[in-house]
Order: sequence, then structure tokens, then C-alpha cells
Amino acid sequence: MTLKRFTLNTASKEGLYPITEQVREAVGQSQAHSGLAVVFCPHTTAGITINENADPAVGRDLLKGLGVAFPDQRSFEHLEGNSAAHLKALAVGSEVNVIIENGSLLLGVWQGIYFGEFDGPRSRTFFVKVMKD
Ligand code: ZN
Repeated sequence: MTLKRFTLNTASKEGLYPITEQVREAVGQSQAHSGLAVVFCPHTTAGITINENADPAVGRDLLKGLGVAFPDQRSFEHLEGNSAAHLKALAVGSEVNVIIENGSLLLGVWQGIYFGEFDGPRSRTFFVKVMKD
């Protein structure tokens, strides 16, 4: 079993950052032929998700849609003032699991793994745990 910790410095308040290559790197170093890669985000205003890797407009639209679905609200009570970011993190989720087969991530052709920042810019962390069969 291999655990890798990655640091990501996000550039703005919100963004979707591709991290598929970092996950592939962790899988490669583990030399796992078959198993599972767990990608985990240890933050409450950021998340991890899988979505389209082809058209960069998709990521921008996802952020726009999350902004519509989870706008800031006057009735929110959290004193830090970032409850909308907490809700976006809730919707996106904190982790993804990807099957490893023949030493490769079993992702669809159009799928990429993304780190979602919803309250940046910050220095962020994510973990990749590779479990071999
Ligand atoms: Zn908060």
C-alpha cells in the first residue's frame, strides 16, 4: 500500500484543477497491476470529482452551475462567511475511488480527475492511497 500527499496552490477563489496525472504518478510508483486508487481531499471548502477532460468549457460551466445552485445567502449563520463554498464541497464530495487494471486507471475516455477549489486561493492538499489486490 502506498500513500502519496500532493500540494496544490490554487490561483483564485474557485477553480477545477486537473489532477489525473498526479494520480497516475502515484499508481505508477506503487507498481500496482490491479487494485484501487483512493483520491481524498482533507478540506471542507474544496473537493474531488471526476468529469469531462476534453472541453475546458465544461469545467467553467460546472462552476457557473454550482454558483447558481449554491449562492451566498443572507440567512447563512456561519461566521466565516463561506457557507456557499461548504455547500459546493458537499455537492462535489471529498473523494473518488478509481479502479486500477493492468497498471492503469480505469477511467472513461472523456473522464479526468479534478480538484475543486471553492474558497481560494489557498495552499491545498490531497492524498492518493493505492491499494493493490
Ligand atoms: Zn467555513
